[in-house]
Amino acid sequence: MNNFEQLGLNESLLSAISDLGFENPSEIQVKAIPLLLEKNTDIVALAQTGTGKTAAFGFPLIQKIDLSKKNTQALILSPTRELCLQIANEIKQYAKYVKGLHTVAIYGGASITEQAREIKRGANIIVATPGRMQDMINRGMVNIKDIEYCVLDEADEMLNMGFYDDITAILADTPEEKNIWLFSATMPAEVASIAREFMKTPEEITVGHKNQASTNVSHEFYLVGGRDRYLALKRLADANPDIFSVVFCRTKRDTQAIAEKLIEDGYNAAALHGDLSQAQRDAVMKSFRGKQIQMLVATDVAARGIDVDDITHVINYQLPDEIETYTHRSGRTGRAGKSGTSMVIITKSELRKIGQIERIIKTKFEEKPIPSGIEICEIQLYHLANRIKDVEVNQEIESFIPAITELLQDFDKEEIIKKVVSVEFNRFLDYYQKPSNNLTSVSSSRGNSKEIPSDGAVRFFINLGAKDDLDWMTLKDYLKETLDLGRDDLFKVDVKEGFSFFNVEADHAEKVMSILNEESYKGRRVNVEISNNDGGRNNNRRDHNRRGGRSNDRGGERSFRSGNSDRRGGERRSDDRRGGERRSDDRRGGERRSDRNSDNNRAPRNERSSRRSSDAGSSRRTRRN
Ligand code: ADP
Ligand code: MG
Repeated sequence: MNNFEQLGLNESLLSAISDLGFENPSEIQVKAIPLLLEKNTDIVALAQTGTGKTAAFGFPLIQKIDLSKKNTQALILSPTRELCLQIANEIKQYAKYVKGLHTVAIYGGASITEQAREIKRGANIIVATPGRMQDMINRGMVNIKDIEYCVLDEADEMLNMGFYDDITAILADTPEEKNIWLFSATMPAEVASIAREFMKTPEEITVGHKNQASTNVSHEFYLVGGRDRYLALKRLADANPDIFSVVFCRTKRDTQAIAEKLIEDGYNAAALHGDLSQAQRDAVMKSFRGKQIQMLVATDVAARGIDVDDITHVINYQLPDEIETYTHRSGRTGRAGKSGTSMVIITKSELRKIGQIERIIKTKFEEKPIPSGIEICEIQLYHLANRIKDVEVNQEIESFIPAITELLQDFDKEEIIKKVVSVEFNRFLDYYQKPSNNLTSVSSSRGNSKEIPSDGAVRFFINLGAKDDLDWMTLKDYLKETLDLGRDDLFKVDVKEGFSFFNVEADHAEKVMSILNEESYKGRRVNVEISNNDGGRNNNRRDHNRRGGRSNDRGGERSFRSGNSDRRGGERRSDDRRGGERRSDDRRGGERRSDRNSDNNRAPRNERSSRRSSDAGSSRRTRRN
């Protein structure tokens, strides 16, 4: 005897429920099951994830199916392939004592002809993603003209993913008299609009609060020069050593190129986009879930339905074309009660989009400076120290210790500590001290910041002057000390009433920007900028990403092309047209290609990093080993 009996469920379901070990129905089940069993009604049911919604519609649906009819009586729409399979499986388990009930799952990324064949054999219940469903309707492979029930599961997610048009088209293909059962965690405007347009006086069931949108996500933007995006991305990763993130790019091409660059630079990264086969995507997702991948570089389409709970950061390497997509991106973090950060790397020309997004998400962004090289070195240093503190010492090492002790006997403890951490720390320091890795911090309020030139002298403006009781000597002393520079490193110090100018060699320019802009002088915030007043020097932009970065870039592009332009690429495409193997979920990407393999599934670890680029990001390599 269990509490499910009181809900009006029949013997076969009750047996299955007891096999499943469910003892008590959840709140949404208590509210939805009797209602759906008793009445033929539309309903809107709102409850958080994990509250048992599948059974809340699954149990009554199974009981209502008329097994004497062979036609499809119910359609369950769900946002992703994974959820489709999950729901179909659950339904099969619930219906294990219901003889002759057939449930078929249809979703993109698998053979459409095989799915059509299964449906032909008889499907009382179809569980489908909207994209594939629409595709099969268009090809006359399914008939939903006589369905009695249409379940919209995870309706908010489906609409988030841009399936509004598919859903409305599918509903238009169903009979007027059917019932719609809409299940959702939240009730955004689009869900309300579906309810209004397609449902007849739906019953409403709510568990918990409506619109429990994620308040766990903080939103940050980082303003950079257009060519500094990649350097900025690396810094954001370096400043968050335990990052577990999805990096969004706008195009498949950028996605591939950025992932390749990151891998080249020693990060645990991989690409996820529509040019990968389903098997490749599954492999990438498996590594991501297993955390062998820390940075999953993805397109919006490919990242749909990523339901990994522990993502710490979403990084918008570029903003999406459609601003609304931002919500779906940032929703990949801050899940399951955890907190997360959504970071946006933008250039000045895109700044107004931040305001647009703020209006949509009804949340303010925090503008943050890209972490300076010195900050990153500090973060990495403490991270390393913590790793040393926490590492477990393996017995195997004992036999080597005497010889090593002898080798290091001349150093005292403090010296040894310095040397140990320097092994790793120097790599970051070397990397960030290279002028070519410099990156100008841009700030939207300051307005006129400039890029740091790669060589020669750089003239700076500083907002300190005679009114601060400074003359050229005292200002020079202050700068020398704050920046830890030699007396010859600073020159042409020119003090005016309210501000001053001074020069340093380009090598020190990054340091000037990052340190001084964090300083206060007699309680006032110091502001330095590269001065216009630079004596007409040629403000030639440095090669921002070293030769290595550049050639990687090209390399990525080349391999991308060759992957696409070979004979098989063409074959595949015509195949798609004929056999219809193309997955339709990936609607905007008609560019499936399964002949490309190595790069994306490659273990994103040590082997690939070259000497020249092994500096930054190296700690993650060693950590994984
Ligand atoms: P939702 O769709 O609301 O996110 P699911 O239907 O996926 O939630 O259910 C979440 C988990 O809870 C599943 O593993 C499911 O088997 C389990 N579950 C559902 N109902 C019950 C119940 N009454 N008792 C115990 N476990 C349940
Ligand atoms: Mg669910």
